[in-house]
Amino acid sequence: MPADSAATLPPSVPLPGRPRAHIGDHPVYHALPPDAQRRLIAEGTEVDLPGDARLALDRDHLWFVISGVLGAFPPDSEVCVAPVVSGAVYGWDHALGFSGSGAQVRPLLDVRLFQVPAAAAREALGYDWLARFVALQAVQRLTFLEQEAACNASHRVSERLAKWLLRLHHGGNGAPVRLNQARLAAMLGVQRTSINVAARNLQATGGVRFSRGKASILDVAKLTASSCRCGTTD
Ligand SMILES: [Zn+2]
Repeated sequence: MPADSAATLPPSVPLPGRPRAHIGDHPVYHALPPDAQRRLIAEGTEVDLPGDARLALDRDHLWFVISGVLGAFPPDSEVCVAPVVSGAVYGWDHALGFSGSGAQVRPLLDVRLFQVPAAAAREALGYDWLARFVALQAVQRLTFLEQEAACNASHRVSERLAKWLLRLHHGGNGAPVRLNQARLAAMLGVQRTSINVAARNLQATGGVRFSRGKASILDVAKLTASSCRCGTTD
């Protein structure tokens, strides 16, 4: 495990103006047996983090994403290799006692999380259940990363930018996408000038408006038409 991969989170800070979602709304939690739910609730706590938080989530917990979007970044990189969207869970490997891939996971948008100590999650869910679940997920992760590699190599910046904006919009359940163009350029691993051109092109279609460090999604259909749609199932 890289020495710089984990950080200690600050205590929960309520964010103003947020709809109050909680762990009971989370689809994975919702699908668990009542006994496991009770044990997770007894051991877990909710945490709010702003989208510009620079701390990586630690590997001592299982993290349910209640709202917002997290991103996975290789160590010492600003290139985002995968989103972790609301309704997903980060850290199944941790619950099994492994430290994971080495990627740092931190907020892309404002997030509300529910954190459960890894050992408590293992006890509540059972090692065998977790092992089967992680094995299934590994195949999905590999497929996703293969698609992303092909996308990065072959699709235009404007198509990839539209893809990421839609991911953030849908993955965050419509929460504001407060990312300026410098951060979007870093996330996609492209020059700032390339993002400026791509953003102008997308804005001209009427699908999105960029202003004051925020991307406002105006028309999902138009933005989808501009996107390469990699990683989508429809
Ligand atoms: Zn693509």
